[in-house]
Formats: sequence, C-alpha cells, structure tokens
Amino acid sequence: MPTENEFTFETSILHNSHKIDPVTGAVSVPIHHASTFHQFDIDSFGRYDYSRSGNPTREALEDLIAQMEGGTRGFAFSSGMAAISTAFLLLSAGDHVVITDDVYGGTYRMITQVLTRFGISHSFADMTDIEAVKRAIKPNTKLFYVETPSNPLLKVTDIKEISRIAKEHGALTFVDNTFLTPALQKPLELGADVVLHSATKFLSGHSDTVAGLAVVKDPALADKLGFLQNSFGAVLGVQDAWLVMRGIKTLHVRLSHSVAAAEKMAHFLQSHDLVKNVYYPGLKNHPQYALQQQQAKGAGAVLSFELENESVLRSFIENVKLPVFAVSLGAVESILSYPAKMSHAAMPAEERESRGISSSLLRLSAGLENADDMLEDFSQALKKSKKVITV
Ligand SMILES: *Cc1c(COP(=O)(O)O)cnc(C)c1O
Repeated sequence: MPTENEFTFETSILHNSHKIDPVTGAVSVPIHHASTFHQFDIDSFGRYDYSRSGNPTREALEDLIAQMEGGTRGFAFSSGMAAISTAFLLLSAGDHVVITDDVYGGTYRMITQVLTRFGISHSFADMTDIEAVKRAIKPNTKLFYVETPSNPLLKVTDIKEISRIAKEHGALTFVDNTFLTPALQKPLELGADVVLHSATKFLSGHSDTVAGLAVVKDPALADKLGFLQNSFGAVLGVQDAWLVMRGIKTLHVRLSHSVAAAEKMAHFLQSHDLVKNVYYPGLKNHPQYALQQQQAKGAGAVLSFELENESVLRSFIENVKLPVFAVSLGAVESILSYPAKMSHAAMPAEERESRGISSSLLRLSAGLENADDMLEDFSQALKKSKKVITV
C-alpha cells in the first residue's frame, strides 16, 4: 500500500490521517466541544487536558495543514492576524524585521503601531528587488517577512532567494501564503521557516469563517510557536476548525476553477480601453511572470486592475451586478474590493499612493461563477462607465 504522501495533493488532502474517526468510524472529524478533559490517572495525564493547550478537533486541522504545507507541525488561530501576531512573538525587544512593501494592511498596522512599542523595529523593502532587500538588512535583523503574490499589487517575491539571504544572516523567513495556499505554492519547500495563512480566505473558502493557520518545519521552532500559541491563547474554536476542514476538502477544485476564471478576466481587462493596468502574475507581461511559473503551480485567483480614474471606478461599482463589493477574498462568490478604502485603509494616503495603491485600483477575487457571466457583467458595467468620461 502506498502511503498517503505518495498520492497527488488533491487526493492526499482528502485521504489524510483524520479521514476516519478511530472510535466510531465517522468519515467526518467529530467536533469536540469540550474545554477540559477528565484525567483517569493522577500520575499520568491523558493526551488532552485543556482545550487552549490542545483539542482533538483543532488538532485534526493542525495536522492537515502541516501535511499540506510539508511541515512538521501546524497551529490554528482565531484569525489570520492572530496567527501572524503570535508568530511575531518569536521576536524579542531589540530585533529588526525586513518586511515587504505592500504587505497586508493588518500586518502593516501590527508592525508599525504595535511591535514598535515593544522595541521591535522594521524596514520596508520592495522584495522584488533583492538589492533593496540587502540594503534594508541591519546587524539586528532577525526576520524577513514575505507576502507573495503581494496584496493588492500582486508583486512576486523570490522565496528561495530571500530564505537564503535570511539564513546567511541567521534570521528567519515568514511567508504569508494566503493568496496561493499549498495547492499552488509551498514556501517551506523553498526554504521558509514559518508559513502563515488567513484561513478565512481560500482554505475555508465560503465567506463564513474567520481563522488563521501557521506551519513550521523545524521541530525546535515548532515547539517555540506551540508554546506561544498556548501562552497568548488566540486559538481557533472547534466549530470553526471543522468549517475550515470542510472547506479544505474542496480547495483544489475550487482553486482550479477560480484560477482559470481569473486568467480569463485578466486577459479581458487587459484589452479594455478603460483599464489602465492589470496586475496578475499569470500575464506574460507581468514583471515576475517567469519567477511565478518557477516557484508556484499557478498564478492564483486574485488580480487587481486600475481604471481610468476614480469616477469611472465609482460608476463601475454602481453598475456591476455579480461580484459582492466587500473586504476579503478567496470565496465561492467573486469579491470586488477597493483597497484604498478597505484592506489598506489603515495605511496613510500618501504612503498608500506612493506604493501604487491608487484611488482607481480595484481588486478582484474570482469565485465559482461561470467566467463568461462575469465577463459579460464587467463588460456591461464598463460600457456604462465609459459615459462618465465622455460627458
Ligand atoms: C485577510 C488576510 C490576512 C488577515 O487575516 P484575518 O483572517 O482577516 O485576520 C493576512 N494576510 C493576508 C494576505 C490576508 O488576505
């Protein structure tokens, strides 16, 4: 019998070590709504004692994400930000972080407004430029923080190269893998130390759960993160852990459809005269197209595009019918977001504009609709918006 790991990714996420409950034979992981566990022996406690420290339902998800990312241990948190913030606690006062320029707004807030109060400093760098990354390094640099493709400009960072530089400096590399998931990209295999996820997005996939995950390869580092998860205590509840596992069962088919839809939309938008720029690493003219092909199995289901101006954008939003206009991404329904007022609202306007996140930029996360319906909808909304600039 081949072991589960010898099968393809899509097969092994279904046939994982928790596919059958050993007690009842149930083919769905039981939801253990217990905060505490009876100890049968005063001298030797059982596997579980208190659910902040460990819960069988949460642990099933933690095992699953570890397997999917090729790590030794996974950790589930109450949100993506809880996972990211807890991982930052691996740092100490006096440490310095080199962090990617167009990082997720919440991570930006954490690093600039919270960690600074604890004596942890940072430098932003355009991580597509390895020389810029090297210039940002200080003697006390302990962490390189990567998000690739980045949000919302879909810039691609060379995970292997950054991890190599980090190792040279005795520093860690964290990669936020929310946009691609291990179905498309496996940062630990490229040398990263910690992979982080907002499982709120593609992993759960249905806009119905807020959750975060972290995966570590090195067992000693895993022990440290496990200690921090228990100390800080921002663990994922069991109901939500189950929902994330339910979502993961269809991750591969959902992504396959959504990536194809995103590609189609990217090509359509690129050829439209009201669209100034399309940012999607699956387009041949994307500056890091080759790198994306090399380090990932696909370009993902998220793209951004810049319209002629803000009034065209406003008219487009009023006229487009299918996508929900909302914060977030990675769901069954297509989601259109306005980074300037949503994910990057925490970033000062001049800072935002200087990073290319203009007031006429929209981000699209392709869902499971028929791509031709989406295309038609965008097409009619753009046609109506055209009037805005001709009057
Ligand atoms: C949403 C998101 C986060 C934050 O996750 P939450 O689950 O909202 O706390 C972090 N990184 C990226 C790339 C995200 O899209």
